[in-house]
Amino acid sequence: MLNENLCQDCPRNCLVDRSKTTGFCGAHNKIVVAKVIENFAWEEPSISGEKGTLAIFFAGCNLKCEFCQNYQISRTAKGKEYSPNEFYLYLSGFDLSKYSAIEFITPTHFSSLLLEALRGKKLPLPIVWNSSGYEKKEMIETLAEIVDVFMPDLKYYSSELSKRYSLAEDYFDYASESIRAMRKLKPDIIIDGQMRQGLLVRHLVLPSCYKDSLKVLDYIASLGKTQISLMCQFTPTKYSSIKRRLYPLEYKIVLDYAGKLGLNQGYIQELSSSSEDYIPDFN
Ligand code: SF4
Repeated sequence: MLNENLCQDCPRNCLVDRSKTTGFCGAHNKIVVAKVIENFAWEEPSISGEKGTLAIFFAGCNLKCEFCQNYQISRTAKGKEYSPNEFYLYLSGFDLSKYSAIEFITPTHFSSLLLEALRGKKLPLPIVWNSSGYEKKEMIETLAEIVDVFMPDLKYYSSELSKRYSLAEDYFDYASESIRAMRKLKPDIIIDGQMRQGLLVRHLVLPSCYKDSLKVLDYIASLGKTQISLMCQFTPTKYSSIKRRLYPLEYKIVLDYAGKLGLNQGYIQELSSSSEDYIPDFN
């Protein structure tokens, strides 16, 4: 934690002592792993590389979007618990030559604990930080010591949308600052098509929200040359108030605008990705 034992790891600033209770994210003071997938090849090719990542899905979340596709593990922080030292030993126990990278998925609420686990340690693979973007710039600057590739979402520009879907009115203020810091801290290093260091920003276009997506793209363009991944896989879940998938025209407007802005480094999804096949099963 940044301030004594009261948690301020993320913009929620819950100021709780996680050895005694939990804040918004639901996490205590142990690192909680919900699932590990070896040779995870579902990410963008510059992240998955040739062998796929060692994907560590953390339990709980500091954002908890109502439409979360990983809701089975993000709603509660239940899973296998590790102290920072145990977590380092656990990671070291894998044959790391089998993967292209180590990927931390939804790690923000464990930032301080992961820093404690990995600071000053040498692992032979890039560490990918796959986050919601709802993070603090100061924490990102510290995390840069252990993270090689930042892969944040930039979900919303509008505070009305971020409040409605993620209870985080200040999402864009924090995410935009954090992502600008990531861009500055990690210039891209790409070897044989795999990002060994750098930044890839993801954006999921939501139904009825394409105008907000255009503003998100304006911001990403202001970062300078940056890999982007535009996604259309939104699928209604039992928790989401949005009840339909994205229309092809909505997605086309966003893709055309990205082209106009010169955002041509990165990836786009096919609309056929909008299906329940793209919701991982964590049971
Ligand atoms: S990491 Fe969790 S407890 Fe800490 S400030 Fe964020 S939501 Fe609150």
